[in-house]
Amino acid sequence: MKTEDAMRVPFLDLTIQYKTLKKEMDRKILDVVESQKFILGQEVTELEEKLASYTKTRFAIGVSSGSDALIVSLMSLGIGKGDAVVTTPFTFFATVGAIVRVGAKVVFCDIDETTYNMDPDKLEEAIHDGTKKCPDSKVKAIIPIHLYGQCADMDRISASAAKYGLSVVEDAAQAIGAAYPSSSGTKNACGMGDMGILSFFPSKNLGGYGDGGMILTDKEDLAEKAKILRVHGAQNKYFHDLIGGNFRLDAIQAAVLQVKLAHLDDWTRKRQKNAIFYDKLLKDSGLIARGIVKVPQAVYKQSGIPNYHVYNQYVVRAEKRDELQRFLGSKGIGSAVYYPLSLHLQNCFSSLGYKERDFPETEKASGEVLALPIFPELSVDQQEYVVSCMEEFYKGT
Ligand SMILES: *Cc1c(COP(=O)(O)O)cnc(C)c1O
Repeated sequence: MKTEDAMRVPFLDLTIQYKTLKKEMDRKILDVVESQKFILGQEVTELEEKLASYTKTRFAIGVSSGSDALIVSLMSLGIGKGDAVVTTPFTFFATVGAIVRVGAKVVFCDIDETTYNMDPDKLEEAIHDGTKKCPDSKVKAIIPIHLYGQCADMDRISASAAKYGLSVVEDAAQAIGAAYPSSSGTKNACGMGDMGILSFFPSKNLGGYGDGGMILTDKEDLAEKAKILRVHGAQNKYFHDLIGGNFRLDAIQAAVLQVKLAHLDDWTRKRQKNAIFYDKLLKDSGLIARGIVKVPQAVYKQSGIPNYHVYNQYVVRAEKRDELQRFLGSKGIGSAVYYPLSLHLQNCFSSLGYKERDFPETEKASGEVLALPIFPELSVDQQEYVVSCMEEFYKGT
């Protein structure tokens, strides 16, 4: 192991990846610049075809961001004023922001303590709760989030959705390529709900050189509507059937993403390898046995099928989390908290009427979770250094 002075572990380092792609990437970007065709067009269409195939869905619609993909999905489903949507309070703001932005009410459902995903045991209660809490609204949809890169329990969520006649939009912003062992065979993130969304924010497993997102669906009518909404609701330019917006994906982003998509499975395997190595190092450290640290649980396993958990984040639960994070920072190690304040307790949602202790698992997780560096190019030395610094921090506890 290298000496401490030389060791720096950034939370995410995209420059290594760029160096390996530079030649091909620069050429591809220059091609777009030379064509002077920047909006939608062939690059976007090609990316859409590749991602529909990658996620095993029929239709893909490239949009301006993951957040906009959520908004356009809800708009395509006709969700707005007078409707309510169930999701968890333990997600990136955009999931909930989208619901509010289309004029619908948010109904929260707590998470499962092992997976951090929507707890199917609490879902039906949340649906009933929504009807009580928002008497002027009708629950119309569920947005499960495949948090950190592992699918929510879609069989059970889909069963509840079917029982109450609700639509399902999968928020797969962190879970491109993640598999799920459904009762009807292995499924892909985005291929289980009525619609699914991806984000190409640079820190996601497939990240662009700017913002971008994608909507995936098997349903032709929803795909058509999303496509029209993406261009201000006009199927024929300047003749508007719907009120949409500018939700378009840029050609340069689509070109960048096509170059990267060819490497995605390789990067995912490296993330998984890194996760397994952290699991081992943390086990060997004794921190798990002593109950100080808990490692993430990949709950779906089936021989021969990789990619159940795609580890956009490797998130541990840790005692004295904030102090640990500061200590790691002082040792040159980056880490992050996703997410420090549950969404039901955010100032901007105070009018929803939720209070502390309404979602105990979410609130507990907010105080304990810490994401460690997990990017594909992370070295063995760096991982050993991270865990040895954690051991140092807890020495004597
Ligand atoms: C990143 C993310 C989004 C939003 O994606 P953007 O492309 O940044 O708008 C939505 N939901 C979740 C869970 C995310 O992690």
